[in-house]
Amino acid sequence: MRAMRKAIGVDLGGSHVTAGIVGDDGSILGQYEQDIDDRSFDAVFAAVKNVVDSALKDGKAKDASAIGVGAPGNIEPRSGAVLYSPNFLWTDIPLGERLRKQYALPVFVANDARCATLGEHTFGIGAGTQNFVLLTIGTGIGGGIVSGGNLLIGNRAGAGEIGHHQIRPTDGFICGCGKRGCFEAQASGTGLIRHAFAVAPSFPRSKLLDRERDKLGSKMIRRAAQAGDAHAVEAWRNFSSDLALGLANIIAFVNPEMIALGGGVSSAGDFMLDSVRDRVNELTTMVPRGTTQIVIAKLGNDAGQVGAATMAFQGGLTPR
Ligand SMILES: [Zn+2]
Repeated sequence: MRAMRKAIGVDLGGSHVTAGIVGDDGSILGQYEQDIDDRSFDAVFAAVKNVVDSALKDGKAKDASAIGVGAPGNIEPRSGAVLYSPNFLWTDIPLGERLRKQYALPVFVANDARCATLGEHTFGIGAGTQNFVLLTIGTGIGGGIVSGGNLLIGNRAGAGEIGHHQIRPTDGFICGCGKRGCFEAQASGTGLIRHAFAVAPSFPRSKLLDRERDKLGSKMIRRAAQAGDAHAVEAWRNFSSDLALGLANIIAFVNPEMIALGGGVSSAGDFMLDSVRDRVNELTTMVPRGTTQIVIAKLGNDAGQVGAATMAFQGGLTPR
């Protein structure tokens, strides 16, 4: 029997980091997680080191051959430096270099959403497709594109930054990247909350926003919309209309056979899919309508770790 290769797959997010012991069949043999409150590089690095150390000490990680890290932002593929990350407010952070000083194993760093796309395409809902797009819809929107069977990387590792194409450049919300009306600003979980605030003046008796602003979650608004709350329904309508606009743009650019929606907001499931399908078809003009499956991703929160490990098994995302 062939011995299973293993790698440590790290998913580094804005609020927590997870390290998984991942087999080359996509299985997760162990998982270690830690919250992140301080977004300075030293504090984040300490959290990453902590979960990776725990994973490596685990007997199931015996013979692990590499460490793969998915991190938010634009990542230089060879050095693993984070050139720019609005989530962490980082520029030119030597994440890969510092990890290599720490560990004897080969270390590879790539964008978190590109890693998740690799995971979903290799082991998840996109397995077997040639032209596939994953969107991770949570606090922001991450993306990744598989075209002709290969994950697109781009000239400077920027292919798939779908979250920062502008869909409402004149009347949209300001994005974390500084532009107005990016897909991420309009159609992420944060975008749904902003839509709820934007339409609030039309619903003076609404109880939807009667709580401290930082305690208001997108899930709360979605559930209220499902229950028929008029204010939430209006916010959800605007949110899903913007989501459909971005999805139709992706179809025009990439013509994928499948777009999978992952990330926290995708827990809305069929309610989300039903809200966008008709509008996506209306906005699809040059590709035969209804030929792009829009589905919910399969690996959930594990996609990032599985994908980061898969990326490490491949020796990183650098073109070889
Ligand atoms: Zn943006």
